[in-house]
Amino acid sequence: MVSLVIDDRSVQVPEGTTLLQALRRAGLDVPTLCHDDRLKPSGACRLCMVELEGGREVSSCTTPAAEGMRVRTATPGLESQRKLMLQLLAETHPVEEPPGPKTPFGKLLDRYGVTPGGKPRRPASLKDATHPYLRIDMDRCVDCFRCVRICDEVQGQFVWRVWNRGDRTEIRLDQGANLQGSSCVSCGACADTCPTGAILDQHVLDRDTPATWTRTTCPYCGTGCEMDVAVQNGQIVQVRPRMDAPVNKGHLCVKGRYAHAFVHSSERALHPMIRTEAGWKNVTWDEALDTVARGLQGVLSESGPGSVGVLGSARATNEENYLAQKFARVVLGSNNVDCCARVCHGPTAAALKATLGTGAATNSFDDIERACGFLVCGANPTENHPIVGARIKQAVLAGARLVVIDPREIELARYADVHLPIRPGTNVAVLNAVANSILEQGLADEAYIRTRTAGFEEYVAFLEPWTPERAADLAGVSAEGIRQAARVYAEADPAMIFHGLGMTEHRQGTEGVECLVNLALLTGNVGKPGGGENPLRGQNNVQGSAHMGCEPSHLAGYTPLESAAALYEEIWGRPVPRERGMTWTEMLEASHDGSLKALWAIGYDVYLSNPDANRTAESLRKLDLLVVQDLFLNETARDFAHVFFPASSSFEKDGTFMNSERRVQRVRKCIEPLGDSLSDWEIICTLAAKMGFAKEFDYHDVRAIWNEVRKGWKAGAGISYERIESQGLQWPCTSEDHPGTTLLHEKTFSIGERATFIRSDYLPTTETTTEAFPFLLNTGRTLFQFNAGTMTGRTSNAVLRRTDTLDMAPGDAETLGIRTGETVRVVSRYGEALLPLRVDESIQPGTLFATFHDPKVFTNRLTSPNRDRQTGAFEYKVTAVRVEKA
Ligand code: SF4
Repeated sequence: MVSLVIDDRSVQVPEGTTLLQALRRAGLDVPTLCHDDRLKPSGACRLCMVELEGGREVSSCTTPAAEGMRVRTATPGLESQRKLMLQLLAETHPVEEPPGPKTPFGKLLDRYGVTPGGKPRRPASLKDATHPYLRIDMDRCVDCFRCVRICDEVQGQFVWRVWNRGDRTEIRLDQGANLQGSSCVSCGACADTCPTGAILDQHVLDRDTPATWTRTTCPYCGTGCEMDVAVQNGQIVQVRPRMDAPVNKGHLCVKGRYAHAFVHSSERALHPMIRTEAGWKNVTWDEALDTVARGLQGVLSESGPGSVGVLGSARATNEENYLAQKFARVVLGSNNVDCCARVCHGPTAAALKATLGTGAATNSFDDIERACGFLVCGANPTENHPIVGARIKQAVLAGARLVVIDPREIELARYADVHLPIRPGTNVAVLNAVANSILEQGLADEAYIRTRTAGFEEYVAFLEPWTPERAADLAGVSAEGIRQAARVYAEADPAMIFHGLGMTEHRQGTEGVECLVNLALLTGNVGKPGGGENPLRGQNNVQGSAHMGCEPSHLAGYTPLESAAALYEEIWGRPVPRERGMTWTEMLEASHDGSLKALWAIGYDVYLSNPDANRTAESLRKLDLLVVQDLFLNETARDFAHVFFPASSSFEKDGTFMNSERRVQRVRKCIEPLGDSLSDWEIICTLAAKMGFAKEFDYHDVRAIWNEVRKGWKAGAGISYERIESQGLQWPCTSEDHPGTTLLHEKTFSIGERATFIRSDYLPTTETTTEAFPFLLNTGRTLFQFNAGTMTGRTSNAVLRRTDTLDMAPGDAETLGIRTGETVRVVSRYGEALLPLRVDESIQPGTLFATFHDPKVFTNRLTSPNRDRQTGAFEYKVTAVRVEKA
């Protein structure tokens, strides 16, 4: 600690603290204009100047606090200099205030009694009113460069550029005449930091100054960013990032910051409904719940508990998913409960559990800044987990090494030391060859292998035939590229692996993740800060939904049914069925063959999300009772459901989500539930009561549900609501005084002393190209949209990305005589879809990429129903298709 005196006050601060931080800690309000805690201090605006003993003046944001310093912050000289600076800046500032709340610059002018001069500053400042979320008026710019710096230092997008110098200084876009023509990703960080209103958030202009702010967690991806939500007159007006959030540290992406209009969409389904011959009819909650209770009881008494299924939701809270599986087991007496983790990261959980003993990320996002290298495999973080993507980009810009294995040249590939654009479906062959090459180049961590692993010799023998040359042939990349990838990953110490659905949604999804674990073991990267094997979970609470027991063979805490059933019988006071339940993919088949009669799908548009939509439709059509619970009458509800339950969004309820790094964070009610909608947990409890289980589902609030979760889930027992009030905790956290766990498998693995190398041989997918289907189609998300588009499709993100597209390599487009913008017919063995074409150089010849968000396009009519051999996850990433002029 260092001690100093500021304005006659004794202050103690840790070493490395700047004077500005020290004086703020002392409660002093020294003005700043160019400063933002998220940025490197620049000392440009000179407003934060302070006087040291002896009369020397320094900018407090760039000067470290030192022992014995005596500092004056508001001498008459300093204050008059500040006023002079502001007068100079205000001379060319518009007289009119920008709309919305008073800006920090406006407040400073008031404080120092300065009036804007309104002189035109430069002939042609940028103005842009075409963006759906941002308004630009660079006449208000005071050259603090915070927009430029935050775009460079936090987002890594480099959109804003400084042109000229002195009084001709201008801030312009990197390209194009407006924001949408530039490389802007609409994260809004520039508007967030701008102190003058030169860049403004359009929502505030449209909906008035916020009245209340509530801290909650983003409802989109599994990164788990925390945000403050502003409300005025019952409407969400604005979202800002939490500066103290451990994951996003004052940053958000375009979805988290802006895509909230779906909450107030006129398309929200706000009343319970029953389908009649004349169509949907609004009914009371009692009628809807009675109908479902009667329907379920009828199916149970006629066909038994094996004929009913429940699907939990990756968008619902942990508490709600816990109740969904409790409902299936206690009320229905069935283990037929699953969630969308089945079709995304089921292989991840299975592989990590089998190899290391815990089916979750080994490390934390804070390890990104500790890592010296990254292997990003089958994941596109800058689009799908943008805050993680931005952090990786910053780490690489700061010198970390990067290997990208992905069929497409994704944005991160442009920053990579090595990019392997592999043929879809060849992950296992390539990863085995990377392992072979690590051994061949003598880069394995022998001491770690000797002390912490098992099965090494057998693994070495197994890898012998997996030469880079052999894998290169299969994957369409160079053997030297594979060797380089091995070298870059193995030499970076420590190095993190990130993977996404490009790993798991394959016939060998689980085996692919096992291969990644092998690489981490081979290089001593498991149990090491800045290392590990880290899945990027797709939806906000997909980790939580499976972890809370929406899984046919696991109960809450991802504990196997056989070993945990007795414990839950004690907690619930009811028998837990022991018969093996069906996975979601098995339920679909059972529905097709007539043995599954009733399904309750909570927050999951299964029809739009499943591959081979025609087959899914046949299965759903055969159900006697399909209940859909969602914010909107989604495609599943519209075409097949018998009863619709309107659910509240995460902004309308309390609870917790669990992010990709095992962090449990609070979700808080920001507005009252709209219309007749109810929280998922309230709907589940009421239906349970109607079916005779009121006592077992008698909770006053979500805290009571969570406390029951903690009773059964030992690794979460220490995560109380009180403890996560200001910041989430990562499990394992076994008691109230446990600090939570940022790093798994540090000394031993959850599975035991040693982790075993798993030998997974490559099996080509059965989905092969032929003359009739010459292209391999890969599907995925785009930055601006989210999954089935249920939420983002009802926001202005749809302006930024209007519909799905089919991306094709330029040479292939030329051969077919088709161009960007043209609508083409894509035909697979399972169905066809019409998609606008985008000729794109990031695509390899012979492959295609399509997004799947737009219900009108319905890309999943095309995708293959093949499945991961171990978990049944669908092989969305490889479908043979042909493309025709439409
Ligand atoms: Fe939300 Fe994910 Fe974006 Fe964070 S990165 S704001 S969690 S969508």
